[in-house]
Amino acid sequence: MNTILVINAGSSSIKFQLFAAGGERSLKRLLKGRIEGIGVKPLLVTEGVEPGMTTEVRYSAAEVPNVPEAMRRVGGWLREAVHGFPMAVGHRVVHGGPEFHQPVIVDAATLAKLERFVSLAPLHQPNNLEPIRALMAQAPSLLQVACFDTAFHRGHPDVADRYAIPGKFYAEGVRRYGFHGLSYEYIASRLREIDPRVASGRVIVAHLGSGASMCAMVDGRSVDSTMGFTALDGLPMGTRPGHIDPGVILYLVDRGMSTADLQRMLYHDCGLKGLSGISNDMRELLVSDRTEAALAIDYFVYRAALAAGSLAAAMSGLDAFVFTAGIGENAPEIRARIAARLGWMGAKLDAKANDRGGPLISAGDSRIPLYVVPTDEELMIAQHTASVLMRSGRSL
Ligand code: ADP
Repeated sequence: MNTILVINAGSSSIKFQLFAAGGERSLKRLLKGRIEGIGVKPLLVTEGVEPGMTTEVRYSAAEVPNVPEAMRRVGGWLREAVHGFPMAVGHRVVHGGPEFHQPVIVDAATLAKLERFVSLAPLHQPNNLEPIRALMAQAPSLLQVACFDTAFHRGHPDVADRYAIPGKFYAEGVRRYGFHGLSYEYIASRLREIDPRVASGRVIVAHLGSGASMCAMVDGRSVDSTMGFTALDGLPMGTRPGHIDPGVILYLVDRGMSTADLQRMLYHDCGLKGLSGISNDMRELLVSDRTEAALAIDYFVYRAALAAGSLAAAMSGLDAFVFTAGIGENAPEIRARIAARLGWMGAKLDAKANDRGGPLISAGDSRIPLYVVPTDEELMIAQHTASVLMRSGRSL
């Protein structure tokens, strides 16, 4: 059986899924797993080897101190659980820089190019590239495909791609890249199945997870995103602030804060966690009766509604709004509160449909249809990997 392995390596976790490949549109998920808490409290969880079966393996921090070691453990587990090597591995790579508009087969030269973008995404890119490098060393003939979070946004018009700073910085790569592109691309393809007429219109997709952003799409193509040069901008997130006056950063630098401390704070201590002082997890905030939790939720909803207004203006109107990712898919209260703030645009929720989770959650007389569409970045990566294989003349 031909299989495609998908690897999504983050800063402290590696998620993986294995698909049986019969063609680009004929992929069957065989199993999935993740190793989380790398270097702290590593735990490997897998499901799907037998129907309904899950397994857990705990390691000490010394046994799995970093991403390469975690990758070796995942490889070892896969070799025992699955017979035969995958025909290709598809990787999520956060940054394709200004150059990569679509997925590519990674060879040594491509890897060297992708390493140049480490400075653009210092916390994510090294972890994305590490498993590629490790597999290249272990199995040089194995085909590896990089799928980029930025690629879906590379067609943005100039006004959405620029910052109003001297042009020489743009030339060296200081641009509004946008992220979560694999999620948005998947949602665009699902919308075409759910309602082709809506999919061809002006749509905002709200990817509300630990990381959160929104994308303005016209006819299934991204025209703007709330994220920019890095995944810090735009909406408030679990631990990242979203939109912030750069003057605040200058003030903190002036006060003596180091770049490393600032980076730690901006990626790990802000957002829902910073505002509430309680948790970065929306579930905990929703059940808390503390005023700080209420403020963090109010802020999240307020900024989401502001961003929606701004993206609707980017498209001179709005034909549909889609919720996705952890919060978007699972928190009816947050969806209801954001939808209420979009009432001025004609959005009207159907409370019962919202509680059921959609896909359509708007009332019959809502001017704008509202949807919940679960995202599937791993399937998107597997599809890209299959189509790259087919384009390069390999049969599945
Ligand atoms: P990521 O893939 O970026 O880690 P997810 O898309 O899985 O993030 O989203 C994770 C977030 O989704 C969690 O931090 C949590 O706040 C939120 N979430 C998950 N389930 C629920 C739920 N039932 N109610 C509210 N929030 C939820």
